This record gives sequence, C-alpha cells and structure tokens, in this order.
Amino acid sequence: MLSMKILVSNDDGYLAPGLAALVDAIRDLGEVTVVAPEQNHSGASNSLTLTRPLSVRKGYNGFWFVNGTPTDCVHLAVTGFLDFRPDIVVSGINDGANMGDDTIYSGTVAAAMEGYLLGIPAIAFSLARKGYDHLDAAAQCAREVVMRSMASALEGAPLLNVNLPALPRADIKGFAATRLGRRHKAEPAIKAANPHGDAVYWVGPAGLAADDGPGTDFHAVASGYVSVTPLKVDLTHFEHVGRIRAWLGA
Ligand code: MN
Repeated sequence: MLSMKILVSNDDGYLAPGLAALVDAIRDLGEVTVVAPEQNHSGASNSLTLTRPLSVRKGYNGFWFVNGTPTDCVHLAVTGFLDFRPDIVVSGINDGANMGDDTIYSGTVAAAMEGYLLGIPAIAFSLARKGYDHLDAAAQCAREVVMRSMASALEGAPLLNVNLPALPRADIKGFAATRLGRRHKAEPAIKAANPHGDAVYWVGPAGLAADDGPGTDFHAVASGYVSVTPLKVDLTHFEHVGRIRAWLGA
C-alpha cells in the first residue's frame, strides 16, 4: 500500500532506545508519526488521564511527546491531535518481555490496544529480555511483521502481541503463532524504609513462567522464535454465563 500512515507509540517514553530502533526500522515503509509518553509508564496498562489536561510537544528527535500515559498518547493522536487517521498503530519496542499475564499490565500492549479499540490494526512489540541486547535484530524482525501486515491485511483489524527473542538475526529461527502462557503469581512486595524511617513498598517482580509449554509465547521465545499472539479484549468468561444465570435464578 502506498503512503501507509503509521502511528508509533510505546510505554518506555519518547527517548527510549527501543522506540528509536523501531522507527528507524520502519521509517521507509510509510509516513511515520510518533506520539509517545514523556516519561516511562511501564505497567500503566490502559489508564487514561482524566483529572488534568494533556500537552503534546515535539522533541528534538522529531517525536511528539505527551505528559500522559501510553493510552493517552494513542487516544489523543487518533481522536483529536492528528489531522489524519493512521492505517496502523505500532507500539514498542519495549525494554523487556510482555508475555502471558504481562499483557494485562503492559503499557506497550495498551498503546496498541487503544488503536485496536479505535478500529485500527495494531501491533505491540517487546524485546523478550530487558537491556536492549540485539535490539537491531529485533527491530528488523518487527519490520518484517509490519511489512507482512501491510502487504496482506488480516481480517478484522486485529491486535497482535509480538515478543522478539534477544538473539542475533541469524539465530532467530522464524515466526510462530502462539497463545499467551501464564506466569506463577507475582513475587511478594518488597518492604523498605524511606530516609525518614517510614515503611515504603516496592511492587515485586512478575512471577516466572508457569504455563510455558509448546504453543505458548514463552515457549516460542525460549526456542528462538518471534512469538506472534493475536489478542482479544472481551473479558467475558463465556463458559460461566449460564452458571451465573442459574446462580442468580436460584
Ligand atoms: Mn516498558
């Protein structure tokens, strides 16, 4: 498609190396516009800022930045800030995995999800190991996924969650369609003291993978594949609707 309009966002902030790498990798695929958070909002999930106005400013790197969340960025961009409608929303490349339950908390996934909720195909990209090792290879793989989605649009403007193994390109075995795995429950919160002696707490790290067998995102990445998981947003537990109906009727 000629002159595809690509909106890029992330949750690590508009100065994050993963964002720059993604933009560099896809720049020639269309008209690329970046609207990203001013600061790191990892773990922001789908939060919107409703208690104060938001500003959109342009950084020296040419990227627009917003003093808000990833969801704010895509929401504002699509519903009021941009004078065009993007053909695709891409988010990332996140500094660290967004697999299994991570997707519930992830601002990277949320930025893409906001595009999807507004009816635009969207892809979230995460580098599966924190620290940006082999970021260039990951960005090249991200480019391949974006090119593929531009070349043959998937039915129903889907939301894809892509996790990229932190490996040299030659060691990446290919692309695998996956489902989300599950983690063990999160590690306990970490108690500390502030300089005044008051107790403070750090939210603990995510649990290790629990459901990580063949077919999962965890398994694909651990096996050297780029994991591509189609996501849906409806949280209804359909199997339980009948049971709840009976329970309410009793
Ligand atoms: Mn992040």
